[in-house]
Amino acid sequence: MRRTIVMGALLAIGAAGLTAAGVLQQEERRVAVQSMGVAENLYLVSGGGGHTALLITQNNGVVLVDTKNPGWGASILQTVQALTEEPVTTIINTHAHGDHVGSNPDFQDVVRVVAHENARESMTGSEVFAGGNERFLPNETYRDRLTLFEGLDAIDLYHFGPGHTNGDTIVVFRALEVAHTGDLFARKALPFIDRSNGGSGVSYPDTLARAVDGIEGVSRVIPGHAPPPPGSPVRGWMTWDDVREYAAFMQDLLDDVRASFEAGRSVDEAAAGLDLQGKYPDYSLDRAERAVQAIYDELGQ
Ligand SMILES: [Zn+2]
Repeated sequence: MRRTIVMGALLAIGAAGLTAAGVLQQEERRVAVQSMGVAENLYLVSGGGGHTALLITQNNGVVLVDTKNPGWGASILQTVQALTEEPVTTIINTHAHGDHVGSNPDFQDVVRVVAHENARESMTGSEVFAGGNERFLPNETYRDRLTLFEGLDAIDLYHFGPGHTNGDTIVVFRALEVAHTGDLFARKALPFIDRSNGGSGVSYPDTLARAVDGIEGVSRVIPGHAPPPPGSPVRGWMTWDDVREYAAFMQDLLDDVRASFEAGRSVDEAAAGLDLQGKYPDYSLDRAERAVQAIYDELGQ
């Protein structure tokens, strides 16, 4: 049964917790829910970490893509319950980072947790899944491609190689022509290249190019973090063309950084000299040293 809520309204959730000093503190964790504007069963839940996609399937309950930072499960669940009486059956984690998997343990009854095999390996032993929380690790993994469910419910998971991490998944809601790209495309900005979890700035452009070539039929995109425009349904937001542009941006970044590396420039010089803003005026080049350093480290190996 579908419930009616005022879309775009902020759902406020008060969560009580004990501070380190043992003081009961009231904390408010707010998420915003917006229809993606393609059907009445796909929603963007923002706030508290990476974007969560919420799909109410026809025959398979509620599917969540990513669960935000630790402690945000109640907010997500309250959002689900405002929309439907269907249970959350399935969680897909786009990658291993805590701001995307942190509230997996809040979903006690979920039977299926799916991620790339490398992402599961990175999650294993992390704080989120320690101390009895191992059972909330992904219990289903894949290597290149996996399809969940059939017909209108079909969800395709794709992995094209290292980028943000070595376990990045692009999730495609096939019938709706919408993709959740995780942090492989988080926002129009320099990426965080997590080399400690197998990320690669050298492979990143090729990985994105393979995604652009290998995925068909996607029109709209939920990026990992970029703030959505106000209002619901979400309109005029990211499209597959933005992913295509991001692939070009990453190639230009790598070419630029490689040229500096080969010319013997320092990381600071290379970062200061990045010549990308003219071609990509709406991109943020903040934290350029971090991205350049990651690529330098890899080129120097
Ligand atoms: Zn991430």
